[in-house]
Amino acid sequence: MTKAGKKTLSFCDSVNLMADRAFAVLNMDEGIAKAIKACNSILEVKFPVNIRGKVEVFTGWRATHSTHRLPAKGGIRFASIVNQDEVEALAALMTYKCAIVDVPFGGSKGGLLIDPNAYERDEMQLITRRFARELIRKGFLSPATNVPAPDMGTGEREMAWIADTYKHLNPDDINYAGCVTGKPVAHGGIRGRTEATGRGVVYAIREFFRHADEVKAAGLVGSCAGKRIVIQGLGNVGYYAAKLLDEEDDAKIIAIIERDGALVNENGLNVEDVRQYINQCKTIKGFPDATYTEDGAAQLELECDILIPAAMEAQITAGNAKRIRAKLIVEAANGPVTFEADEILRERGIPIIPDAYANAGGVTVSYFEWIRNLSHIRFGRMERRYDELRGEAIIKAMEEMTGKDAPDIMEKGLIRGADELDLVRSGLDDTMRLAFQEILAAKRSYDEINDYRTAAYVVSVNKISRSYIDIGVY
Ligand code: NAD
Repeated sequence: MTKAGKKTLSFCDSVNLMADRAFAVLNMDEGIAKAIKACNSILEVKFPVNIRGKVEVFTGWRATHSTHRLPAKGGIRFASIVNQDEVEALAALMTYKCAIVDVPFGGSKGGLLIDPNAYERDEMQLITRRFARELIRKGFLSPATNVPAPDMGTGEREMAWIADTYKHLNPDDINYAGCVTGKPVAHGGIRGRTEATGRGVVYAIREFFRHADEVKAAGLVGSCAGKRIVIQGLGNVGYYAAKLLDEEDDAKIIAIIERDGALVNENGLNVEDVRQYINQCKTIKGFPDATYTEDGAAQLELECDILIPAAMEAQITAGNAKRIRAKLIVEAANGPVTFEADEILRERGIPIIPDAYANAGGVTVSYFEWIRNLSHIRFGRMERRYDELRGEAIIKAMEEMTGKDAPDIMEKGLIRGADELDLVRSGLDDTMRLAFQEILAAKRSYDEINDYRTAAYVVSVNKISRSYIDIGVY
């Protein structure tokens, strides 16, 4: 409740209300809308682990929001603030997200209530493996039904422990590696997964800038180059997004907001230097070449071209939405803008590229990893050398026909066959481009839609309802 006695919306309420806008636009049958919004099942586990001679009891959740496509897919977060509502909301977002980017999965999400920094590596391994056993035994983790991935507070390390736990409990499952994605490459992971969500955010921004009328409507001009960007959260997603924008797109990262404050530099921060500094000093405080301010959240209100919240949910709320001065918001995190804030920003005409699309790069490359695990072969292994030989033959034939040496640029393009990373990046780029174009088409098809979020939800619920109808639920 707020001081005025008004009920504050939960994360789940927020996601449901955003989906409701799309159901209204589509005039969708109430029953189908209810079926789509409902969380299919939720597991809560409590398990003891002996830490430093003392028994501690941990609480975790795994929500399966939808199973119209299997497996259900979604990250596991380890955080000191996580609860059932949050996990359910994130699972619902996964359902919508997978449909938007045409990844044939249902939606799921998991969370473990823990401060990962309070435990040693071996202790984290013990806790993670025990949590994984709970999920496996209760039918919430397998390559066929439910496949986790990294999220806040988890990464390759945790995914490797989970995969190994599954393998030991299921020695006959030849597809065991597909029980989780985001694994280290040496353990069945795919090249490019770690950077995938951040890279996907950048591909989304690049595609936005390819549509001059949308760019103009946002009060922007040109491309990413020179754009002044504020980013919140320099973790997995934020770091790769900011690094690529800084190094490949010549954008200016004018502020980085972290847990312990913000760094501001109008001339642009060197993202790699900031990250190295954080790795060494465990804080952003004291970083040279920037002004440090303790009130990080206030820097969300800086005047800028693009604001990228990449930390956690509910960062832009009814409290600060009126003061946001960005021309465009790109939701790299899940749920960073609450429903109330979204209403205010819509009214103010500040466009938002929504989470369910913007950060879908992670699940897209997870899908590639899962396919790689089921097919037991790395992408590009069969054809790379063949393509190279063919390229060499083409160049040789051209040189013989013309009597001239082929230009360098042609040789480079034709003689090098695509490796796994090339293919993953190309598949990710294609996915992000096509999805934005579909969202844009939906935005332009309905008079009632004037924002990307509602358009994205329309694309998504249209596809999901189709699959419900096709399998005869309605
Ligand atoms: P992470 O734990 O790697 O990074 C989060 C970063 O945000 C950390 O650097 C942390 O210090 C910072 N942070 C936390 N609270 C903050 C606050 N209040 N203010 C400023 N900074 C704060 O997590 P991540 O994997 O990068 O995930 C970030 C967001 O992206 C989450 O919402 C997550 O659900 C979403 N997401 C992640 C992935 C993925 O592949 N990892 C995929 C899709 C969506």
